[in-house]
Amino acid sequence: MDLLSELRRHFPFDSFRPGQEEVLRRLAGGDSVLALMPTGAGKSLLYQFEAKTSPGLVLVISPLIALMQDQTEKARELGIEATFINSSLSREEREKRQNRLARGDFRLLFVTPERFRRPGFRDCLRGREISLFVVDEAHCISLWGHDFRPDYSKLGELRREFGDPRTLAVTATATPEVQKDIVRVLGLEGRMEIFSTGLERPNLSLNVRDCYGLEEKTAVLVEELKKNPGTTIVYFTLIDTLRQVSRALAKEGFRHLTYHGDLPADQRRKNLKIFMKDQAPLMLATPAFGLGIDRPDVRSLVHMELPGSLEAYFQEVGRAGRDGGISRGLLLFDEESDTAVQMEFLKWGNPEAAFLRRLYDLIESRRAEVDQGGFDFLREQMSFKNRRDFRVEAGVNILERWGCLAKTETPFPWTAMEPPTDEMIRDEKMPERLKNLSMKLLLVLRWAKDTDECRMRRILEYFGAAGKDCGLCDVCRGEAG
Ligand SMILES: [Zn+2]
Repeated sequence: MDLLSELRRHFPFDSFRPGQEEVLRRLAGGDSVLALMPTGAGKSLLYQFEAKTSPGLVLVISPLIALMQDQTEKARELGIEATFINSSLSREEREKRQNRLARGDFRLLFVTPERFRRPGFRDCLRGREISLFVVDEAHCISLWGHDFRPDYSKLGELRREFGDPRTLAVTATATPEVQKDIVRVLGLEGRMEIFSTGLERPNLSLNVRDCYGLEEKTAVLVEELKKNPGTTIVYFTLIDTLRQVSRALAKEGFRHLTYHGDLPADQRRKNLKIFMKDQAPLMLATPAFGLGIDRPDVRSLVHMELPGSLEAYFQEVGRAGRDGGISRGLLLFDEESDTAVQMEFLKWGNPEAAFLRRLYDLIESRRAEVDQGGFDFLREQMSFKNRRDFRVEAGVNILERWGCLAKTETPFPWTAMEPPTDEMIRDEKMPERLKNLSMKLLLVLRWAKDTDECRMRRILEYFGAAGKDCGLCDVCRGEAG
């Protein structure tokens, strides 16, 4: 197959982006590939291309429900018969799509790994030829990744069930340990080629500034915004802090947008729209903002706190400078308070088994009160006084992922389905996961404190890529510390 002429025939592009052709050539030769690609390097073209040129169904397993609709629409705009199935759809709509899948409709399908627990869903794919099995965000397979999902660890079994199809696993952030794990779990040892499109970002300057307290951080941010007026994203771990800084910036006369979980959905959509079309917007957001958002000319990306891992940091800062123009990442770092916030986050985001069981019981047995009081009632019952404490929300997310809760139209939009079982709790591997995440926090902390070694080089080495000094970061410029 002449890949380039196929590209020109099916897509509005004249040439491939770096790495795309190499991955597609390997796939065309019948091989399975683990592609290490930075965010924004054009991974969606890989499965779109396959959906256009191969005869069967391209099955994309993804953890990110929030992106599926958008991914599906983009594929449809290219004339690909694409769809997605997840919990955001009504049962009727899901069944309609499953029936069409069983009849042989659709060439590209997005689903979460948890969907395969439903027997009805497996059945609708039974007669289909899977021409490519795609594992997106493949680091979720590994307990050593920063985002382990138990159902990802069953994907090897699922591949075998589908008759050992060609497989493409994609991730932007996998250490060598995680890469090995991905190949092993998928059952492709000795049969999967690892290909890196190069994680280097030669236009990105990484900087860390030691600060003490929010007041100093805000002052540094203001100074920074005055010096660098281009498109800017400022990330916050906590919404409370975001609000405080937003007020301070307004006082200083900085026009800006905000984006976080406490804003109503229509307001979020509106702010996103403005961000995409304004000339040089300033956005204050939680890190969920930016996922799947492709504004190429982000010139500055500021972290107001230390992120939880080098994986998270590299992914987030990588949203700057996708157009190749010089861009700046700046971390405002307060060792003591940033570490405390992240440790709290770790603990709250990974609740214990007894907590999850009690939360489920409350939602099942105190329905009327739950409908009336929502998360505040649950927090109160669990004796969490702090509104910042998001353990209850994290618990609901986990219970939904397990299928113990399902989305409904009731005021509190989840209903109890089945209590969590010992097996679900065991599969989650909470103690190991916590230990691993604490280690990752320690590593990013060390990275932030280090003023001797090139910042970019250290990150690339962490991901198993050999790097040279970048010449752009504060360490290389002799300005660190
Ligand atoms: Zn450097």
